[in-house]
Formats: sequence, structure tokens, C-alpha cells
Amino acid sequence: MTDIIKNNDYTVEITGLTHEGLGVGRINNLAIFVKGAIPGETILAKVIKINKSYAVGKLLKIIKASENRAEPFCKVYGKCGGCSLQHMDYSAQLKFKTDMVRENLKRIGKLEDVIVNPAIGMENSLRYRNKAQFPVGMADGRPVIGFYSVRSHNIIDSETCGIQDELSDRVREVVRKFIAENKVSVYDEVTGKGLVRHVMTRVGFKTGEVMVVIVVNGKKLPFHDKLVRSLTYAVPDIKSIVLNVNTQKSNVILGSENITLFGRDVITDYIGKFKFEISPLSFYQVNPVQTEVLYEKALEYAGLTGSETVFDLYCGIGTISLFLSQKAKKVYGVEVVEDAIRDAKRNAEINGVDNCEFIVGEAEKVIPELYGQGVKADVVVVDPPRKGCDEVLLQTLVDMAPKRIVYVSCNPSTLARDLGYLSERGFEVNKVQPVDMFPYTSHVECVTLMSRVEK
Ligand code: SAH
Repeated sequence: MTDIIKNNDYTVEITGLTHEGLGVGRINNLAIFVKGAIPGETILAKVIKINKSYAVGKLLKIIKASENRAEPFCKVYGKCGGCSLQHMDYSAQLKFKTDMVRENLKRIGKLEDVIVNPAIGMENSLRYRNKAQFPVGMADGRPVIGFYSVRSHNIIDSETCGIQDELSDRVREVVRKFIAENKVSVYDEVTGKGLVRHVMTRVGFKTGEVMVVIVVNGKKLPFHDKLVRSLTYAVPDIKSIVLNVNTQKSNVILGSENITLFGRDVITDYIGKFKFEISPLSFYQVNPVQTEVLYEKALEYAGLTGSETVFDLYCGIGTISLFLSQKAKKVYGVEVVEDAIRDAKRNAEINGVDNCEFIVGEAEKVIPELYGQGVKADVVVVDPPRKGCDEVLLQTLVDMAPKRIVYVSCNPSTLARDLGYLSERGFEVNKVQPVDMFPYTSHVECVTLMSRVEK
């Protein structure tokens, strides 16, 4: 039993961080989580929630500050659901991410002595994102276009977002004005009524090309030619404006139908020497600077000599496949989104790459089929979404026994689970390299090299 009382204030020493970046301390042996507190700090917290295994505190005062404490650069930090580590300096963020990966590998993967290199950070960690997705709503009778607040769908209407490209601020300002002046309705999540749902922007960092996607609950946007004029006037680098139709009553941002209102239906960008065409629905890494670092690492870990057959599973628009194609005999890319595979084929073509084959479908269905037909890989690269790889796929890889598996992951806990599975079935983890693709958030990307254990 604890004698901690709700709404009372306690002095707490912070000794750790949760995966979301909350400070962890103890009061009478009960763990307490405090947002905004850093290990090494002594703080005063009000207990706002207690249950059997932990309490939640609200930071009232920092009694002794950590040397890693930093002044947040954003006015709405703490309210906005986007960033969670702005109160820590960048080197402390990187250390937190490296430690988190190590801890996950131990706890979930039962992998004790794995080499985890220090996370590779960015030289300039601001305005690193090339893609913004702003929800549109109403507040006090006027349209707001911003970000969801922490754990809710209230929209925080900030003027600028310090991790997004500046162009995205200009775009949403134009759309906000357009909605207000033309009395266009905005979507209401509760009733499912109203038109404009989201504004998405994508910027090619190397080409400067901009795509704007207006997501609507309908098939038309009244006065859309006016919007096109204002947008292209305010942001001359806009090369594509797309109306995306999403009439579903759900949290999914984009619908499946696109209507091009202006320019092309794709924009182009480069990663390394490769040129990519990106359509509205395709996945494209949001931090292009670190993506290059990540892909170079994946290529290095793949250890190709030119004679290998390689699988690039969860290949998106074929970005990693093209990197691998430079040093492989043949690359098979597999991806479930049809538009992405169409882009991947086109991307291979515009880069003059002829040793890649792209297949649409779920990796856990396509790979067992290919393997059944006698197609085997010497090296396999996987880059799954947050939920990690399907067990059917992992088992097929165990049977196929490639020399190496390079696992690119955006979620250390499913990474640890899958590495644990493979480690018990004929593979060993050689090294893990975290790459910081998402400064100021608690997310971390990793590239891992596994190799087949020779009997
Ligand atoms: N390697 C790419 C994409 C990684 S994101 C890049 O670096 O850009 C993960 C991708 O996996 C997404 O494109 C998603 O559409 C795809 N995906 C999700 N589930 C899948 C499955 N079961 N089989 C194949 N692809 C899948």
C-alpha cells in the first residue's frame, strides 16, 4: 500500500525516462511519471493520478535542474502533440535514444550483449521535415489549421512549426484565408459533416518542388481555381496541387482518390544520386538528410559484391532498392501499396536501373510464394511499418537462410521482438546503428545487421 495522496505535492528525484520521454522517479517505492522532467533533476510535482503500479505527476517547479535542460524553441511546446524532447539538449536526446534501443533489445529481445552504436544525429536539427499534415477545424468561429494537441483532437493553431519546412507555414496561411473568405465549410469529426479535412504539404529538399494536397470530405472544392491562384502566387515552387477525396468517417488522413487541380500529379526529389517521383499516397521518408545516412548504412551493412540476389521488403517507392541495385546482381522490391509500386517502377526507369523487379503485395504472402518458386535471396533488407514483420515472413526467412538480414526499423520494441525471434533460429545480431530521423520527438530509427550462423 502507498500513502501517496492525490493532489498533494511531492519532491521527486528523476532517475530515468520512459519511451515517450517522460521523467521517471519514485515516491515511497511507487514509480511516478512526470512530463518535462529530466534524469538528474530534483523537482516538485503534484500527483494528478494514482493507480496500483504507478502515479502521474504534473511538474510544478524544478528545484535542481539538469545540465541537459534546454529552453524549448516552440511557443506551443507541451500543448502540441508533436514534439516531446524540446526541453532536453540535442546530445541528451541522442543518448536517450541510444539507451532506449539498448533497453528494448535486452527486455523484449533478450539480447544482452549486442553492439549498439551511438545514435547518429543531425548537424542542423531544425526544420528537418519535408512533409506536414495539418488537420483543419474551427475555433471561435474561424478556421484553424495546425496540429492536434497532446492526446486529443483539439487543434493547436501555431503560426509556425520549427521542425517543418517554412513553406508549409505559408501554405496553411493561404488555405486558412481561402476557407475564411469563401466560407468553405470545414470537416467536423463528430458529425462527419463539412468539407475540408486536412492540408498536406511535401517539399523536395534537393529540388525545391512543392506538392500541396487538400483532403476533402467530398469530390469537389468550391472556388478551387481561386485557391490554386493564391497558392501558386504565395509559393511559386508549388509544382502540384491535388484534391484528395476522403469521405470515410475515420482517423485515416488520406482517401484513395486523387484529383490533380494544378501541375503534375507527382513531385520529384533526390536521395543521394537517385531521383524519385513521389505521388500523394506513397510513403517517402520525412527527413531526407538523415534518410541518406540511413540508406548508406543499410547499403554498407548489406555488404554486397555485385553477385547477390537481394530482397528489399516493404520497399515503398523503391528508394532502398535503387541504393542496393548499385552493388547487387538483382533486387526484388515488395510493397503492399499499389501506387508506391507504380512509382518504384517508374523510379527505376528514370534512373536507368534495370536490375530491379517490383512486386505488389504483402511481404508475408509474396515471399513464401517466391521462395516456393525457388527464388532465394543472399541478402534481405526489411523496412516494415511500426508493427514490425509478420511471423510468416520471418519464418520464411529462417527457412531461406540468407547470408545477411539488414533490418531497418522505426520502432525499437518490434525490432527487438523480431531480432529475438531470428536470433533463436539461426541468425545472430552483429550490430545496431540508431539514426536520428526525428529530432525533438522520442522516435528513433535503427539499421541492424544480422548474419546467418554457420553450423
Ligand atoms: N523502405 C521504404 C518504405 C518504408 S515504410 C522507404 O524507406 O521509403 C514501410 C512500407 O511498408 C510502407 O510503404 C507500407 O506501405 C509498406 N507495408 C506495410 N505493410 C506491408 C506488408 N505487409 N507487406 C509489404 N509492404 C507493407
